[in-house]
Amino acid sequence: MAQYCRSCGSTLEEGAQFCRVCGAAQEGYSAPTPQPVSTPYQAPYAAPYAQPAPIPQPAPSYYAAPAQQGAAPLGVGDYIIMMIVSGIPFVGFIMLLVWAFGSQTNPNKKNWARAILILMLIGIVLSIILSSTLIAVFREVFESMEGYSY
Ligand SMILES: [Zn+2]
Repeated sequence: MAQYCRSCGSTLEEGAQFCRVCGAAQEGYSAPTPQPVSTPYQAPYAAPYAQPAPIPQPAPSYYAAPAQQGAAPLGVGDYIIMMIVSGIPFVGFIMLLVWAFGSQTNPNKKNWARAILILMLIGIVLSIILSSTLIAVFREVFESMEGYSY
């Protein structure tokens, strides 16, 4: 029996699955699920450089510790008083120790006092090294002078 395209009405061949004129699929034919014409090109090997680099996560911040936020900044007057007091012989050194290790001290003042103590420590060590070197040099000079006097 003759078949006609259900889309355009043109005559179909016996058992035709598609219309020659318009290409419409005909009754009784279940079109297969469309397959991609060409599979995308697959690289034969996985290029390691093509891997997306891992995004570096920001390091957790240690600077925004909430305990440090209560520290009030020191004014110019505070620094002047601190420097004058620390310049007083003996008393200044005691005050530096109190500021550096006291638990009630403002953290800024505490750090300042610790910095001064460290500088004093460096100065003491340097002066000991320098004086001992000078003493050794002077002894050598005096000994050589005594040697020439004979
Ligand atoms: Zn047709």
